[in-house]
Amino acid sequence: MSTIASPAQAARSELRSYAGELIGPDDAGYDDARALFNAMIDKRPALIARCRTADDVAAVIAFAREHALPLAVRAGGHNGGGLGSVDDGVVCDLSHLKDISVDAAAGTVRVGGGCLWGEVDAATQPHGLAVPAGIISTTGVAGLTLGGGHGYLTRRYGLTIDNLLSAELVLADGRKVTASADEHPDLFWAIRGGGGNFGVAIEFTFRAQTVDTVVGGPTFWAIEDTEELLAAYREWLPSAPRNVMGFFNFHTVPPGPPFPEAIHLRKVCGVVWCVDGTDEEAERAMAPLLGVAEPLMHGVGRMPLKDLNSAFDGLYGPGDQWYWRGDFVREIPDQAIAANRAWNERMPGFKCGSHLYPIDGAAHDVGVGDTAFAYRDVTWSQVFIGVDPDPAAADTLRDWTVGYWEELHPHSAGGAYVNFMMDEGQERVRATYGPNYDRLAQVKAAYDPDNVFRVNQNIHPAS
Ligand SMILES: Cc1cc2nc3c(=O)[nH]c(=O)nc-3n(C[C@H](O)[C@H](O)[C@H](O)COP(=O)(O)OP(=O)(O)OC[C@H]3O[C@@H](n4cnc5c(N)ncnc54)[C@H](O)[C@@H]3O)c2cc1C
Repeated sequence: MSTIASPAQAARSELRSYAGELIGPDDAGYDDARALFNAMIDKRPALIARCRTADDVAAVIAFAREHALPLAVRAGGHNGGGLGSVDDGVVCDLSHLKDISVDAAAGTVRVGGGCLWGEVDAATQPHGLAVPAGIISTTGVAGLTLGGGHGYLTRRYGLTIDNLLSAELVLADGRKVTASADEHPDLFWAIRGGGGNFGVAIEFTFRAQTVDTVVGGPTFWAIEDTEELLAAYREWLPSAPRNVMGFFNFHTVPPGPPFPEAIHLRKVCGVVWCVDGTDEEAERAMAPLLGVAEPLMHGVGRMPLKDLNSAFDGLYGPGDQWYWRGDFVREIPDQAIAANRAWNERMPGFKCGSHLYPIDGAAHDVGVGDTAFAYRDVTWSQVFIGVDPDPAAADTLRDWTVGYWEELHPHSAGGAYVNFMMDEGQERVRATYGPNYDRLAQVKAAYDPDNVFRVNQNIHPAS
């Protein structure tokens, strides 16, 4: 029998005042603990450390450094590229950091670094408040926020980072610091879009917006109507009021309720709406597109925002094969419209498709250099989605997504939303941060000169 301690054994004997869980490959529960949202990625960490306190996080960072083990940080585990885990290294898992506290009078909410967005919605909605976030409620707060965060409220209230007031972080050297406009402002600038490159975020404080019910849901048209609809949509969106959000999408109608049986598995184009306003405002806003062609389905109604934020959780649950790519888009020329239609007529599975998320409106009120998130002048963040439950479909999904992305990329603004990227190389990371990359590299050198936090869309420390 080997006398050399495994990382899990070493951690058990060395991390004396550690309060969290330590899970190694020989422990029951290891496979559940290492599973990621994207089943295409099958990583086997040497140690999963589910921390309970800031001191736990500092101890785990120090342990990984002392043993020269790569360190990944995991919140919701939703990252498409599987960057919340690492082979043969240490996962600092924050899923026990679940405290949420709403200060309704101040309009703020403090959120633990391991929370999911559905948990935040459940805490804020009873107060008629919401933090602008994404369209699936099982996504982690930390990964989404640190990359920027866009969703139904972006046009009205900006990106998630535009509503971030401060964050508590544990740095690579174990120090616990606050990043805000007043404290470590360079770090605060960097974490608003720069991902997990600078430290482990254990708590966020957000400004919460007053949002109660919204008018939301999907309208689907036949994919044959794409040319007319997308041409009308690209003109309509920039002039729509900020309280009106509609993301254009290509899908196959799922084969089950609430979708009418007559259109099950029909390939469609559509808009998913969210109007934070009156019924009349919603009708007025939707009318120009509803008049372009007869919809196959108009599934729109009034609902609490939290219901809209979780409406597609069932369609996109954990355990599917997942390969996606993204690009920022300023304009959609006719050639791009035709290419979008052609690729979606060849979707390899009913969970595949593409979304064009609006990131204009309030997201444009913030300057390119004001936060690390550089693309403040584009209209959409497009994602090309290859998803299927069948592991045998993995290569087909990847080929379709990459082929689709390659044809559309020349029409893009150059970079992609960092949270829609797979492992695509350093040039893509640079393109994503554009003019902000060099400043990010300087901040990285100041806070993580040894690149301890490198299992992410990595920013190399400036030398
Ligand atoms: C179904 C689905 C729908 C989505 N919809 C949207 C959407 O509407 N809008 C949107 O903006 N994005 C969306 N995303 C993308 C999402 O923002 C990213 O997948 C994000 O990385 C998920 O965060 P997480 O905490 O779950 O990820 P994880 O996999 O846990 O982590 C992702 C990355 O963040 C880092 N990280 C995680 N937690 C911390 C922390 N506490 N401190 C420091 N670094 C940390 C990790 O190192 C890793 O690099 C969606 C993703 C999926 C799968």
